[in-house]
Amino acid sequence: MADSFPELRPAARILLGPGPSNVNPRVMKAMASPVVGHLDPDFLKVMENIKRLLRIVFRTANEITFPVSGTGSAGMETVMANLIEDGDEVVVGVNGAFGTRMAEVASRQGARVHKVEADWGTIVEPAKVAAALKAAKNPKLVAVVHAETSTGIHQPIEEIAELAHQHGAMIAIDAVTSLGCVPVEIDKWGIDACYSCTQKGIGAPPGLSPVTFSERAMESVRKRKTKCRSWYFDVALIEQYWGPDRLYHHTAPITMNYALYEALRIVVEEGLEARWRRHRINAAAFQAGVRAMGLQLAAQEGHRLPQLTTIAVPAGIDDVKVRAELLRLFNIEIAAGLGPLKGKIWRVGLMGEGSRRENVMLALNALEEILGSMGFEIARGRALTAADDAYSAEGTGAGEPPAEAP
Ligand SMILES: *Cc1c(COP(=O)(O)O)cnc(C)c1O
Repeated sequence: MADSFPELRPAARILLGPGPSNVNPRVMKAMASPVVGHLDPDFLKVMENIKRLLRIVFRTANEITFPVSGTGSAGMETVMANLIEDGDEVVVGVNGAFGTRMAEVASRQGARVHKVEADWGTIVEPAKVAAALKAAKNPKLVAVVHAETSTGIHQPIEEIAELAHQHGAMIAIDAVTSLGCVPVEIDKWGIDACYSCTQKGIGAPPGLSPVTFSERAMESVRKRKTKCRSWYFDVALIEQYWGPDRLYHHTAPITMNYALYEALRIVVEEGLEARWRRHRINAAAFQAGVRAMGLQLAAQEGHRLPQLTTIAVPAGIDDVKVRAELLRLFNIEIAAGLGPLKGKIWRVGLMGEGSRRENVMLALNALEEILGSMGFEIARGRALTAADDAYSAEGTGAGEPPAEAP
Protein backbone atom coordinates (compact mmCIF):
# COMPACT_ATOMS: atom_id res chain seq x y z
CA MET A 1 0.00 0.00 0.00
CA ALA A 2 2.64 2.48 1.09
CA ASP A 3 4.66 1.45 -1.96
CA SER A 4 1.92 1.99 -4.51
CA PHE A 5 0.77 5.29 -3.07
CA PRO A 6 3.83 7.19 -1.88
CA GLU A 7 3.67 10.21 0.34
CA LEU A 8 3.34 13.48 -1.60
CA ARG A 9 6.69 15.06 -2.30
CA PRO A 10 6.30 17.66 -5.05
CA ALA A 11 9.43 19.72 -5.73
CA ALA A 12 9.54 23.24 -4.31
CA ARG A 13 9.82 25.11 -7.62
CA ILE A 14 10.66 28.69 -8.43
CA LEU A 15 7.38 29.59 -10.13
CA LEU A 16 8.08 32.19 -12.81
CA GLY A 17 5.17 31.34 -15.06
CA PRO A 18 1.77 33.01 -15.49
CA GLY A 19 0.54 31.55 -12.17
CA PRO A 20 0.36 29.96 -9.76
CA SER A 21 3.14 32.04 -8.27
CA ASN A 22 5.10 31.20 -5.15
CA VAL A 23 3.24 31.32 -1.85
CA ASN A 24 4.56 33.11 1.23
CA PRO A 25 5.25 30.66 4.12
CA ARG A 26 2.96 32.74 6.34
CA VAL A 27 0.10 31.81 4.00
CA MET A 28 0.95 28.11 4.14
CA LYS A 29 1.04 28.34 7.93
CA ALA A 30 -2.38 30.03 8.00
CA MET A 31 -3.75 27.12 5.97
CA ALA A 32 -2.71 24.72 8.72
CA SER A 33 -5.10 26.47 11.16
CA PRO A 34 -8.00 24.36 12.48
CA VAL A 35 -10.98 23.96 10.16
CA VAL A 36 -14.06 25.43 11.85
CA GLY A 37 -17.71 25.51 10.79
CA HIS A 38 -18.59 27.95 8.03
CA LEU A 39 -20.88 29.82 10.46
CA ASP A 40 -18.47 29.65 13.40
CA PRO A 41 -18.08 33.07 15.06
CA ASP A 42 -14.32 32.89 14.43
CA PHE A 43 -14.87 32.24 10.72
CA LEU A 44 -17.45 35.04 10.46
CA LYS A 45 -14.74 37.42 11.70
CA VAL A 46 -12.38 36.14 9.00
CA MET A 47 -15.10 36.71 6.38
CA GLU A 48 -15.72 40.28 7.53
CA ASN A 49 -12.00 41.04 7.50
CA ILE A 50 -11.53 39.51 4.05
CA LYS A 51 -14.27 41.81 2.70
CA ARG A 52 -12.59 44.84 4.32
CA LEU A 53 -9.16 43.85 3.00
CA LEU A 54 -10.53 43.23 -0.50
CA ARG A 55 -12.11 46.70 -0.57
CA ILE A 56 -8.68 48.16 0.26
CA VAL A 57 -6.95 46.12 -2.45
CA PHE A 58 -9.65 46.75 -5.10
CA ARG A 59 -9.73 50.44 -4.03
CA THR A 60 -13.50 50.43 -3.72
CA ALA A 61 -16.28 51.18 -1.30
CA ASN A 62 -18.49 48.56 -3.00
CA GLU A 63 -20.56 46.71 -0.41
CA ILE A 64 -20.71 43.65 -2.66
CA THR A 65 -17.09 42.55 -2.50
CA PHE A 66 -16.16 38.97 -1.57
CA PRO A 67 -14.30 35.90 -2.83
CA VAL A 68 -16.26 33.51 -5.04
CA SER A 69 -15.44 29.84 -4.32
CA GLY A 70 -13.51 28.75 -7.39
CA THR A 71 -10.52 29.93 -9.42
CA GLY A 72 -10.33 33.09 -11.54
CA SER A 73 -12.58 31.60 -14.22
CA ALA A 74 -15.32 31.23 -11.58
CA GLY A 75 -15.17 34.99 -11.10
CA MET A 76 -15.52 35.42 -14.85
CA GLU A 77 -18.61 33.16 -14.87
CA THR A 78 -20.05 35.04 -11.89
CA VAL A 79 -19.77 38.43 -13.57
CA MET A 80 -21.19 37.23 -16.89
CA ALA A 81 -23.98 35.08 -15.38
CA ASN A 82 -25.25 37.93 -13.22
CA LEU A 83 -24.99 40.85 -15.62
CA ILE A 84 -26.23 39.14 -18.79
CA GLU A 85 -29.70 37.97 -19.82
CA ASP A 86 -30.72 36.37 -23.10
CA GLY A 87 -30.20 38.68 -26.05
CA ASP A 88 -28.22 41.35 -24.17
CA GLU A 89 -25.60 43.05 -26.30
CA VAL A 90 -22.10 42.72 -24.88
CA VAL A 91 -18.94 44.29 -26.33
CA VAL A 92 -15.86 42.18 -25.56
CA GLY A 93 -12.23 43.09 -26.23
CA VAL A 94 -10.46 40.09 -27.74
CA ASN A 95 -6.67 40.31 -28.03
CA GLY A 96 -5.60 37.09 -26.35
CA ALA A 97 -6.68 33.83 -24.74
CA PHE A 98 -8.58 35.42 -21.88
CA GLY A 99 -10.50 37.93 -23.98
CA THR A 100 -11.46 34.93 -26.14
CA ARG A 101 -12.63 33.11 -22.99
CA MET A 102 -14.68 36.15 -21.87
CA ALA A 103 -16.47 36.24 -25.23
CA GLU A 104 -17.19 32.50 -24.96
CA VAL A 105 -18.52 32.75 -21.40
CA ALA A 106 -20.68 35.76 -22.31
CA SER A 107 -22.17 33.97 -25.31
CA ARG A 108 -22.98 30.89 -23.19
CA GLN A 109 -25.02 33.22 -20.97
CA GLY A 110 -27.08 34.14 -24.03
CA ALA A 111 -25.35 37.42 -24.91
CA ARG A 112 -25.13 38.81 -28.42
CA VAL A 113 -21.39 39.32 -28.38
CA HIS A 114 -19.74 42.10 -30.37
CA LYS A 115 -16.05 41.24 -30.45
CA VAL A 116 -13.51 44.04 -30.72
CA GLU A 117 -10.49 42.18 -32.01
CA ALA A 118 -6.83 43.16 -31.97
CA ASP A 119 -3.66 41.26 -32.79
CA TRP A 120 -2.38 39.14 -29.91
CA GLY A 121 0.36 41.20 -28.26
CA THR A 122 -1.32 44.58 -28.86
CA ILE A 123 -3.92 46.54 -26.89
CA VAL A 124 -7.61 46.83 -27.73
CA GLU A 125 -7.88 50.37 -29.12
CA PRO A 126 -10.49 52.50 -27.33
CA ALA A 127 -11.56 53.96 -30.70
CA LYS A 128 -12.54 50.48 -31.86
CA VAL A 129 -14.55 49.93 -28.69
CA ALA A 130 -16.29 53.25 -29.36
CA ALA A 131 -17.16 52.09 -32.88
CA ALA A 132 -18.56 48.78 -31.58
CA LEU A 133 -20.64 50.61 -28.97
CA LYS A 134 -22.06 52.86 -31.70
CA ALA A 135 -22.83 49.92 -33.96
CA ALA A 136 -24.67 48.09 -31.17
CA LYS A 137 -28.36 48.92 -30.66
CA ASN A 138 -28.47 48.88 -26.91
CA PRO A 139 -25.17 47.70 -25.41
CA LYS A 140 -25.48 46.52 -21.83
CA LEU A 141 -21.92 45.63 -20.95
CA VAL A 142 -18.35 46.15 -22.10
CA ALA A 143 -15.83 43.53 -20.95
CA VAL A 144 -12.05 43.76 -21.26
CA VAL A 145 -9.01 42.02 -19.80
CA HIS A 146 -6.81 44.37 -17.79
CA ALA A 147 -3.70 42.15 -17.78
CA GLU A 148 -3.75 39.75 -20.75
CA THR A 149 -1.62 36.93 -19.35
CA SER A 150 -1.43 35.15 -22.70
CA THR A 151 0.41 38.06 -24.36
CA GLY A 152 1.86 40.32 -21.62
CA ILE A 153 -0.37 43.28 -22.55
CA HIS A 154 -1.35 45.92 -19.98
CA GLN A 155 -4.68 47.20 -21.28
CA PRO A 156 -5.57 50.86 -20.62
CA ILE A 157 -8.98 50.86 -18.94
CA GLU A 158 -10.09 54.38 -18.05
CA GLU A 159 -11.04 55.62 -21.51
CA ILE A 160 -12.95 52.41 -22.28
CA ALA A 161 -14.84 52.66 -18.98
CA GLU A 162 -15.85 56.21 -19.86
CA LEU A 163 -16.98 55.18 -23.34
CA ALA A 164 -19.07 52.35 -21.91
CA HIS A 165 -20.86 54.71 -19.53
CA GLN A 166 -21.42 57.32 -22.27
CA HIS A 167 -23.31 54.63 -24.17
CA GLY A 168 -25.32 53.60 -21.13
CA ALA A 169 -23.41 50.32 -20.73
CA MET A 170 -21.63 48.84 -17.73
CA ILE A 171 -17.94 47.99 -17.73
CA ALA A 172 -16.48 44.74 -16.38
CA ILE A 173 -12.77 44.02 -16.18
CA ASP A 174 -10.71 40.87 -15.72
CA ALA A 175 -8.11 41.71 -13.06
CA VAL A 176 -6.99 38.10 -12.55
CA THR A 177 -3.33 38.92 -13.22
CA SER A 178 -3.38 42.60 -12.31
CA LEU A 179 -4.64 42.73 -8.71
CA GLY A 180 -1.70 43.14 -6.35
CA CYS A 181 0.79 43.86 -9.17
CA VAL A 182 -0.33 47.07 -10.91
CA PRO A 183 -2.96 49.70 -10.00
CA VAL A 184 -6.56 48.44 -10.13
CA GLU A 185 -8.80 51.42 -9.33
CA ILE A 186 -12.37 50.17 -9.19
CA ASP A 187 -14.00 53.36 -7.92
CA LYS A 188 -11.74 55.92 -9.60
CA TRP A 189 -12.14 54.27 -13.00
CA GLY A 190 -15.87 53.67 -12.49
CA ILE A 191 -15.68 49.88 -12.91
CA ASP A 192 -19.03 48.11 -12.45
CA ALA A 193 -17.77 44.56 -11.99
CA CYS A 194 -14.37 43.03 -11.57
CA TYR A 195 -12.95 39.61 -10.70
CA SER A 196 -9.49 38.40 -9.79
CA CYS A 197 -7.86 35.30 -8.30
CA THR A 198 -5.70 34.26 -5.38
CA GLN A 199 -2.73 32.61 -7.14
CA LYS A 200 -1.15 35.35 -9.24
CA GLY A 201 -0.48 38.79 -7.74
CA ILE A 202 -1.99 38.05 -4.33
CA GLY A 203 0.37 35.23 -3.36
CA ALA A 204 -1.98 32.48 -2.15
CA PRO A 205 -2.65 29.08 -3.77
CA PRO A 206 -5.35 28.85 -6.46
CA GLY A 207 -8.91 28.37 -5.25
CA LEU A 208 -10.79 31.63 -4.76
CA SER A 209 -11.84 34.48 -7.02
CA PRO A 210 -12.35 37.87 -5.34
CA VAL A 211 -15.14 39.84 -7.06
CA THR A 212 -16.64 43.27 -6.62
CA PHE A 213 -19.92 44.70 -8.00
CA SER A 214 -20.85 48.40 -8.07
CA GLU A 215 -24.24 49.66 -6.87
CA ARG A 216 -25.21 50.15 -10.52
CA ALA A 217 -24.29 46.54 -11.32
CA MET A 218 -26.33 45.32 -8.33
CA GLU A 219 -29.29 47.41 -9.48
CA SER A 220 -29.13 45.67 -12.85
CA VAL A 221 -28.99 42.31 -11.01
CA ARG A 222 -32.07 43.24 -8.96
CA LYS A 223 -33.93 44.34 -12.12
CA ARG A 224 -33.33 41.08 -13.98
CA LYS A 225 -36.39 39.74 -15.78
CA THR A 226 -35.11 36.17 -15.46
CA LYS A 227 -33.26 34.38 -12.69
CA CYS A 228 -29.49 34.12 -12.93
CA ARG A 229 -28.84 30.93 -14.95
CA SER A 230 -26.23 29.78 -12.47
CA TRP A 231 -27.43 28.88 -9.00
CA TYR A 232 -23.90 28.50 -7.59
CA PHE A 233 -22.70 31.88 -8.89
CA ASP A 234 -25.91 33.87 -8.27
CA VAL A 235 -24.51 36.96 -6.57
CA ALA A 236 -27.84 37.75 -4.87
CA LEU A 237 -27.83 34.32 -3.20
CA ILE A 238 -24.13 34.38 -2.29
CA GLU A 239 -24.59 37.82 -0.78
CA GLN A 240 -27.12 36.37 1.66
CA TYR A 241 -24.29 34.22 2.98
CA TRP A 242 -21.43 36.75 2.82
CA GLY A 243 -23.71 39.59 3.98
CA PRO A 244 -25.42 40.09 7.36
CA ASP A 245 -28.10 37.40 6.83
CA ARG A 246 -25.57 34.53 7.07
CA LEU A 247 -27.91 32.24 5.16
CA TYR A 248 -26.33 28.97 4.18
CA HIS A 249 -25.70 28.87 0.43
CA HIS A 250 -22.64 26.63 0.06
CA THR A 251 -19.84 25.67 2.42
CA ALA A 252 -17.09 28.26 2.12
CA PRO A 253 -13.69 26.64 1.52
CA ILE A 254 -12.50 27.47 5.04
CA THR A 255 -8.79 26.80 4.53
CA MET A 256 -8.60 28.76 1.27
CA ASN A 257 -10.22 31.71 2.99
CA TYR A 258 -7.54 31.55 5.71
CA ALA A 259 -4.96 31.64 2.91
CA LEU A 260 -6.57 34.63 1.22
CA TYR A 261 -6.87 36.46 4.53
CA GLU A 262 -3.17 36.04 5.34
CA ALA A 263 -2.09 36.87 1.78
CA LEU A 264 -4.16 40.08 1.83
CA ARG A 265 -2.70 41.00 5.22
CA ILE A 266 0.76 40.71 3.65
CA VAL A 267 -0.29 42.85 0.67
CA VAL A 268 -1.65 45.58 2.93
CA GLU A 269 1.41 45.44 5.24
CA GLU A 270 3.68 46.06 2.27
CA GLY A 271 1.33 48.73 0.94
CA LEU A 272 -0.18 48.77 -2.54
CA GLU A 273 2.04 51.58 -3.86
CA ALA A 274 5.20 49.87 -2.61
CA ARG A 275 4.04 46.62 -4.16
CA TRP A 276 3.33 48.21 -7.56
CA ARG A 277 6.76 49.87 -7.40
CA ARG A 278 8.48 46.56 -6.59
CA HIS A 279 6.81 44.93 -9.61
CA ARG A 280 7.84 47.85 -11.83
CA ILE A 281 11.47 47.82 -10.69
CA ASN A 282 11.94 44.06 -11.06
CA ALA A 283 10.30 44.05 -14.48
CA ALA A 284 12.44 46.95 -15.68
CA ALA A 285 15.60 45.14 -14.56
CA PHE A 286 14.49 41.82 -16.07
CA GLN A 287 13.44 43.37 -19.36
CA ALA A 288 16.71 45.34 -19.57
CA GLY A 289 18.58 42.07 -19.07
CA VAL A 290 16.52 40.23 -21.68
CA ARG A 291 17.22 42.93 -24.26
CA ALA A 292 20.93 43.06 -23.38
CA MET A 293 21.06 39.33 -24.10
CA GLY A 294 19.89 40.04 -27.63
CA LEU A 295 16.34 38.75 -27.14
CA GLN A 296 13.22 40.57 -28.18
CA LEU A 297 10.23 41.48 -26.03
CA ALA A 298 7.01 40.32 -27.65
CA ALA A 299 4.34 42.73 -26.35
CA GLN A 300 3.58 46.17 -27.77
CA GLU A 301 6.00 48.76 -26.40
CA GLY A 302 4.49 51.15 -23.88
CA HIS A 303 1.87 48.56 -22.86
CA ARG A 304 4.01 45.83 -21.28
CA LEU A 305 2.96 44.27 -18.02
CA PRO A 306 5.56 44.33 -15.27
CA GLN A 307 4.28 41.09 -13.75
CA LEU A 308 4.37 39.09 -16.98
CA THR A 309 7.06 39.51 -19.62
CA THR A 310 6.71 37.86 -23.01
CA ILE A 311 9.88 37.08 -24.94
CA ALA A 312 10.08 36.09 -28.62
CA VAL A 313 11.65 32.64 -29.00
CA PRO A 314 14.71 33.28 -31.21
CA ALA A 315 14.94 31.57 -34.61
CA GLY A 316 16.53 28.13 -34.43
CA ILE A 317 15.96 27.72 -30.68
CA ASP A 318 13.80 24.87 -29.38
CA ASP A 319 11.11 26.44 -27.16
CA VAL A 320 10.27 23.17 -25.35
CA LYS A 321 13.89 22.26 -24.68
CA VAL A 322 14.70 25.64 -23.13
CA ARG A 323 11.78 25.32 -20.71
CA ALA A 324 12.71 21.74 -19.85
CA GLU A 325 16.31 22.78 -19.14
CA LEU A 326 15.20 25.70 -16.97
CA LEU A 327 13.25 23.24 -14.85
CA ARG A 328 15.94 20.53 -14.82
CA LEU A 329 18.98 22.70 -14.16
CA PHE A 330 17.54 25.67 -12.28
CA ASN A 331 14.22 24.44 -10.84
CA ILE A 332 12.53 27.36 -12.64
CA GLU A 333 9.10 27.13 -14.26
CA ILE A 334 8.26 29.51 -17.09
CA ALA A 335 5.45 29.07 -19.63
CA ALA A 336 4.93 28.64 -23.35
CA GLY A 337 2.76 30.73 -25.65
CA LEU A 338 -0.92 29.87 -26.14
CA GLY A 339 -2.98 29.64 -29.34
CA PRO A 340 -1.39 31.57 -32.20
CA LEU A 341 1.68 32.32 -30.02
CA LYS A 342 2.43 28.65 -29.29
CA GLY A 343 6.13 28.01 -29.91
CA LYS A 344 6.67 31.72 -30.61
CA ILE A 345 6.98 33.25 -27.13
CA TRP A 346 7.95 32.48 -23.56
CA ARG A 347 5.96 33.92 -20.71
CA VAL A 348 7.92 34.85 -17.61
CA GLY A 349 6.00 35.89 -14.51
CA LEU A 350 7.46 38.04 -11.77
CA MET A 351 4.32 38.30 -9.71
CA GLY A 352 3.49 38.65 -6.04
CA GLU A 353 6.06 36.85 -3.89
CA GLY A 354 7.98 35.96 -7.05
CA SER A 355 8.72 39.57 -7.97
CA ARG A 356 12.13 39.84 -6.32
CA ARG A 357 15.64 40.72 -7.33
CA GLU A 358 17.10 37.26 -6.68
CA ASN A 359 14.59 35.71 -9.12
CA VAL A 360 15.41 38.29 -11.79
CA MET A 361 19.14 37.60 -11.52
CA LEU A 362 18.66 33.83 -11.39
CA ALA A 363 16.32 33.76 -14.39
CA LEU A 364 18.63 35.94 -16.50
CA ASN A 365 21.66 33.85 -15.60
CA ALA A 366 19.76 30.64 -16.34
CA LEU A 367 18.52 31.89 -19.73
CA GLU A 368 22.02 33.04 -20.66
CA GLU A 369 23.54 29.70 -19.80
CA ILE A 370 20.91 27.57 -21.52
CA LEU A 371 20.60 29.68 -24.67
CA GLY A 372 24.39 29.94 -24.88
CA SER A 373 24.71 26.15 -24.71
CA MET A 374 22.23 25.87 -27.60
CA GLY A 375 24.29 28.01 -29.91
CA PHE A 376 22.47 31.32 -29.43
CA GLU A 377 25.21 33.92 -29.53
CA ILE A 378 25.42 35.68 -26.22
CA ALA A 379 27.99 37.97 -24.62
CA ARG A 380 28.06 36.30 -21.19
CA GLY A 381 27.29 38.56 -18.27
CA ARG A 382 25.79 41.43 -20.25
CA ALA A 383 22.26 40.66 -19.10
CA LEU A 384 23.23 40.63 -15.42
CA THR A 385 25.13 43.89 -15.80
CA ALA A 386 22.16 45.54 -17.49
CA ALA A 387 19.83 44.36 -14.72
CA ASP A 388 22.28 45.46 -12.04
CA ASP A 389 22.47 48.91 -13.61
CA ALA A 390 18.69 49.15 -13.58
CA TYR A 391 18.66 48.30 -9.85
CA SER A 392 21.47 50.73 -9.00
CA ALA A 393 19.39 53.57 -10.41
CA GLU A 394 16.70 52.69 -7.82
CA GLY A 395 18.82 52.63 -4.65
CA THR A 396 19.54 49.93 -2.08
CA GLY A 397 17.05 47.17 -1.43
CA ALA A 398 15.17 47.97 -4.66
CA GLY A 399 13.08 45.06 -5.88
CA GLU A 400 12.97 43.22 -2.58
CA PRO A 401 9.77 42.62 -0.65
CA PRO A 402 9.81 43.87 2.96
CA ALA A 403 11.85 41.73 5.35
CA GLU A 404 9.83 39.60 7.75
CA ALA A 405 9.69 40.81 11.33
CA PRO A 406 11.86 38.49 13.48
C1 LIG B 1 -5.31 32.94 -15.13
C2 LIG B 1 -6.31 33.84 -15.79
C3 LIG B 1 -7.68 33.54 -15.81
C4 LIG B 1 -8.24 32.25 -15.32
O1 LIG B 1 -8.00 32.04 -13.97
P1 LIG B 1 -8.02 30.54 -13.37
O2 LIG B 1 -7.64 30.82 -11.95
O3 LIG B 1 -7.00 29.77 -14.14
O4 LIG B 1 -9.38 30.01 -13.51
C5 LIG B 1 -8.53 34.48 -16.34
N1 LIG B 1 -8.08 35.64 -16.85
C6 LIG B 1 -6.77 35.94 -16.87
C7 LIG B 1 -6.32 37.23 -17.46
C8 LIG B 1 -5.84 35.05 -16.35
O5 LIG B 1 -4.54 35.34 -16.39
